[in-house]
Amino acid sequence: MSKVRVRFAPSPTGGLHLGGVRTVLFNYLFAKKNDGDFIVRIEDTDQTRFVQGAEEYIFDCLKWCGLEPDESVLHGGPFAPYRQSERKDIYKKYALQLVEAGQAYYAFDTPEEIEAMRERLKVEGSSSLQYDHRSRMKMNNSVRLLPEETQALLDKNTPYVIRIKVNPNEFVSFTDMIRGDIEFDTNNVDDKVLLKADGMPTYHLAVVVDDYLMKITHAFRGEEWLPSAPIHILLWKYLFGLDAMPEWAHLPLILKPDGNGKLSKRDGDRLGFPVYAMDWKDPQTNDITKGFKEIGFLPQAFINLLAVLGWNDGTEQEVFTMEELIDKFSLDRVHTSGAKFDFEKAKWFNHQWIQKLEIGGLMLEVGSLLKSNGIAVSDDGYLEKVILLVKDRCTLLTDFVQQSSFFFATPTHWDAEAVKAKWNDDKKAFFHSLITKLNDAPSWDAVTIETVFKDLATEKNIKPGELQLPLRVMLVGGKFGPPVFTIADMIGKDETIKRIATATEIFG
Ligand code: GLU
Repeated sequence: MSKVRVRFAPSPTGGLHLGGVRTVLFNYLFAKKNDGDFIVRIEDTDQTRFVQGAEEYIFDCLKWCGLEPDESVLHGGPFAPYRQSERKDIYKKYALQLVEAGQAYYAFDTPEEIEAMRERLKVEGSSSLQYDHRSRMKMNNSVRLLPEETQALLDKNTPYVIRIKVNPNEFVSFTDMIRGDIEFDTNNVDDKVLLKADGMPTYHLAVVVDDYLMKITHAFRGEEWLPSAPIHILLWKYLFGLDAMPEWAHLPLILKPDGNGKLSKRDGDRLGFPVYAMDWKDPQTNDITKGFKEIGFLPQAFINLLAVLGWNDGTEQEVFTMEELIDKFSLDRVHTSGAKFDFEKAKWFNHQWIQKLEIGGLMLEVGSLLKSNGIAVSDDGYLEKVILLVKDRCTLLTDFVQQSSFFFATPTHWDAEAVKAKWNDDKKAFFHSLITKLNDAPSWDAVTIETVFKDLATEKNIKPGELQLPLRVMLVGGKFGPPVFTIADMIGKDETIKRIATATEIFG
């Protein structure tokens, strides 16, 4: 058996959709499980869709996700170059070989002539408006023209494309690793362009040639590519033989939350959740489309939620580490139908992962997040305690900013509205006395602070429950956070007293 080699073959045209990352993940898991190689090949032959920065961005996303390729433009490898625009000459040779063998042909038609063909077919009521075995004999190509006519056009440097010649009345079939046997009727397959007028191959030619030259054994891609499969199978048959063809797996689509069609960037914009792995800044408009990373997802959670979009291990388990995924992943448990995306469930995974991640990893994430929000963290031990106290309240990493900043800095704003309704002179007097009592407290820990607080409440004949909310707002700035006496313990005596004094004035 030859070594397993899989590839992710993105076109660098913009943000990396979560469906793309899931394709990478399934490639990666399959490769790792089978001691294989994971290759990233940049499919940039469509110059009209080239987008500045998109390639670097894809590699940044893969790095963040922990899905590092073994071979790529960045990582090098024995099959370089891994960028198709640098392999232009290779493809032309194969296109010409196909022409030579009568399996492809030169087509000199201008865009206007192709448009006219469509109009004519429409008027004739034809069942197909495609350039195919029905229409090609009325067009300007080397199938219809005499060899000398074709040669004359080539000699005059007439622009041409090379099209595959699909024979009618044949059946093309293959066995998909997920979907089983699939068959196509060539009567419905058009003569796709293989080589464009600019000398660049189309995706169809380049993907087959490169999968062959790069010794790809298994190819995973989205279900949306299924209609292209017959062209690819024919090219494999004509160029390299079907025995050399990789095994295919067409992955189920990721659907909109309501299950109505493929999840698009626009759905994310409309429903208020990210669809891209990381923030994508459109170089033309400078518009930023939010990514999972920036809104506060852990990469482990992102990977986890993608893994179970279209796969499960047959048990109730939902939270998986990468090691577990590599161990358990199998193609026979990938579903054939689309998987609905549920953002609430996605957040649930992140919450799970925030609880599960070892504290060192979480400290790195939260520490740098606090720093970028202008919160200085000087004591790692203190940061660790804070994280352990608040992490259960955090669904997104970004929640840590609100949930923990008051441990590091005095609030700049107090939610007086939250206490207003039940605030009165008795309570004000209580907090003035509390300041004195706390000053005289024999020691400073949560139990002592609580005792002092409750004893004073009893003495003043006020229910402690009525005083805890104001105390919380005084220490935190708002109505949230972990147990209030623990907060007082953590921020220390002076800071606690200072906040009670300041806020008591503000509450009036
Ligand atoms: N370049 C194609 C894309 O942009 C790759 C499809 C495939 O993996 O064959 O998705």
